[in-house]
Amino acid sequence: MRVVLASNNRGKLRELSAMLDALPLELAAQAEFGVDEAEETGTTFVENAIIKARHAARTCGLPAIADDSGLVVPALGGAPGVRSARYAGANADDAANRECLLHAMRALHGADRACHFVCVMVYLRHADDPLPLIASGTWHGRVLAAPQGEGGFGYDPVFGLEAVPGDGARSAAELPPAEKNRRSHRGQAVRALRTAIAAELGGAAAASD
Ligand code: IMP
Repeated sequence: MRVVLASNNRGKLRELSAMLDALPLELAAQAEFGVDEAEETGTTFVENAIIKARHAARTCGLPAIADDSGLVVPALGGAPGVRSARYAGANADDAANRECLLHAMRALHGADRACHFVCVMVYLRHADDPLPLIASGTWHGRVLAAPQGEGGFGYDPVFGLEAVPGDGARSAAELPPAEKNRRSHRGQAVRALRTAIAAELGGAAAASD
């Protein structure tokens, strides 16, 4: 069965395709069908993931998988949240968004610097599916005072890992990609979605990594 992945982000597509590899599905990028970006008008990650998947499913006439993710800072009332990709403005790049976050947090210390990444993944069997499969993952950390590390993307350089022995003050941008996948909000959500889809398809592939 062909399933369209509702994302134009190449990095995300590569990561998701690899992690969903064990499912008896043939994943196709929405770009193959000329699907444009859906407008993310939701106020929750769940709504935005469904909007993206529904848009792709409707355009392609296929089941669709989409994700929506972002960084949540409770001390900022949940910001940047669903606006993570455009926190510093409509066409902001990752560096501008990080700067904006560090500026917003300049007077916050200690527990107020707690944050978490969230990822929601949905599977729509068709555009009008009334009960999509929904999976989510959460990754807790703290906003660092300044960016550190060269890897990852987005807020990774300012996402400080929770203090566990051996981690020191590393950022998510300092984790090898496989380790990030193991721990991250996206890794958790993809594994949960994979299990849910596999159960629906008859348990063919409740695979491990
Ligand atoms: P989306 O593509 O609408 O889900 O937007 C996600 C945005 O949240 C990205 O542009 C990043 O700014 C941020 N984000 C989500 N996941 C991560 C991550 O794993 N590392 C760093 N930033 C992330």
